[in-house]
Amino acid sequence: MSSPTLPESSSNNSEPELGSVERVSAPRHRDGLEFDHVSMVFPDGTHAVDDVSFNVRRGEFVTVVGPSGCGKSTLLRIASGLTAHTAGECRVDRQQLGYVFQDATLLPWRTVRRNVELNAELQGMAKTERRQRANEAIELVGLTGHESKYPKQLSGGMKMRCSVARALVLSPSVFMFDEPFGALDEITRERLNDELLRLFVHEGFAGLFITHSIAEAVFLSTRVLCMSARPGRIIADIPIEFPYPRQHELRYEARFGELCGQVSEVLKEAHG
Ligand code: ADP
Repeated sequence: MSSPTLPESSSNNSEPELGSVERVSAPRHRDGLEFDHVSMVFPDGTHAVDDVSFNVRRGEFVTVVGPSGCGKSTLLRIASGLTAHTAGECRVDRQQLGYVFQDATLLPWRTVRRNVELNAELQGMAKTERRQRANEAIELVGLTGHESKYPKQLSGGMKMRCSVARALVLSPSVFMFDEPFGALDEITRERLNDELLRLFVHEGFAGLFITHSIAEAVFLSTRVLCMSARPGRIIADIPIEFPYPRQHELRYEARFGELCGQVSEVLKEAHG
């Protein structure tokens, strides 16, 4: 598999560059994930999501936006098996699932390398293989040279790269992100968006991403799903037609602004 040609970064930020490497891939499943009329009512009666249906196939990157509390995280938790839904079906191969949380959730007593190896270790992967895969993932997220550092020595952006690398080690066919870059400054966030798309082009996973940033949603996605206020329903499914790889400057194009406006109008309705 050859790596895509990487565009020049437009930022002088001191974050390291995403690497471009050949990597050995684990056997992959062709399917992504599917929500089929999924509803969720918590035991206390909170109706979080209502009759949600959508698919994300490999090679698709779907972003969910909607008002706070409308059930976005609940959808990811259902897909990952952390929360049981109360109606409908959610089909996903959980053996091949990557999950990046809002917080990097790194273990402070482990180095970058040992944090990146964690999921593979928990799955019982042999040491030589997990070391090799960790090295590949570290290179893919641009953390080569920082393997021996501890989380407290990393910037916010580097911590998130480490978190992404930890999930990458298992070569996920479905990769879910719960607002991972929300706490970062705008320039770092845009840079990580650019690099996440390079990973997406390189790995071809099914991506499911949650954000409050409309520009982030439009830049990353093949489709943007807008949810209503709780109980969350899908009220719009907006295709984003730009081909991949996408360049940083796409954000300055008129059509990009139009699509952001379209998503914004739907969300204004959702907020009421
Ligand atoms: P979002 O990610 O869109 O902000 P969440 O999925 O976190 O929303 O939450 C959806 C709704 O479900 C919220 O009203 C939240 O308070 C509620 N909720 C989340 N977890 C639980 C729980 N364990 N028990 C009861 N209500 C919950």
